[in-house]
Amino acid sequence: MTRVFLASRNAKKLGEMRRILDQHLPGTEVLGLDDVAAYDEPVEDQPTFEGNALLKARAGLAATGLPTVADDSGLCVDALNGMPGVLSARWSGQPKSDDRNNSLLLHQLADVPDERRGAHFTCAIAFCAPGHEPLVVEGRMDGRVIHETRGSGGFGYDVLFEAVEFPGRTTAELDAVDKDAISHRGRALREIAPQIVRVLPA
Ligand code: IMP
Repeated sequence: MTRVFLASRNAKKLGEMRRILDQHLPGTEVLGLDDVAAYDEPVEDQPTFEGNALLKARAGLAATGLPTVADDSGLCVDALNGMPGVLSARWSGQPKSDDRNNSLLLHQLADVPDERRGAHFTCAIAFCAPGHEPLVVEGRMDGRVIHETRGSGGFGYDVLFEAVEFPGRTTAELDAVDKDAISHRGRALREIAPQIVRVLPA
C-alpha cells in the first residue's frame, strides 16, 4: 500500500485531515508523527501560511523519505487587520492554549459591533515527494466571530466562529460531515488530493 506521512502534532487537526484524506486518497496508508522516528520539527517562522506549510512538508520528507502532507492554518479577523493569522495557535503566548486564545480574541473584539466581526479561516496544504516539485494549495472558510463561546466539537477558534453557510451555529456545533464540507481544510485537501494521486506511485 502507498504510504503518505501527515506532519502535524495537533491531534484534532490530524483527525480532520485523516478523515478527509482517507476518502480522497483511496488505497493509501496515512501515517502520523507517532508512526515515524522522532525528528527535529522546524520552527514555524514564515510570514505566510503557504511558507509554513512548505517548511513542515519539506522537513517531513527530509526526515522520513516519505511523501509528506503538511498544513498551516489560522483565523484572519477583519477588525484585527487579518490577525491572528499565522500566529493563531500562539495568539495569547506560550504554552499554547485554545481557551486563552479565545478569551483574548473576545476581549480584543469587545467593542466591535456585529457588522464588523467578519473573519475567515485559511488553510495552506503543502505536499512534498521525492523527485517532484512541491505542491501547495489554499482553502478558505468565511464567517464571523460571535460574542461568546458555543459548542463542544472541533478545536481552536471553532467555538467562536459562525460560517456563512451555517448561520446561528458555530463550527464547534457542526458534525464532522458538515464541517469538512465547508472548512478551509476540507476545501484545500479536496483540491490537492487529485494532484497528490498523480504523483504517488500506483
Ligand atoms: P498551526 O497551523 O499549527 O500553526 O495552528 C493553527 C491554529 O489555527 C490552531 O491552533 C487553531 O487555533 C487555529 N485553527 C486552524 N484551523 C482551525 C479550525 O478548523 N477550527 C478552529 N481553529 C482553527
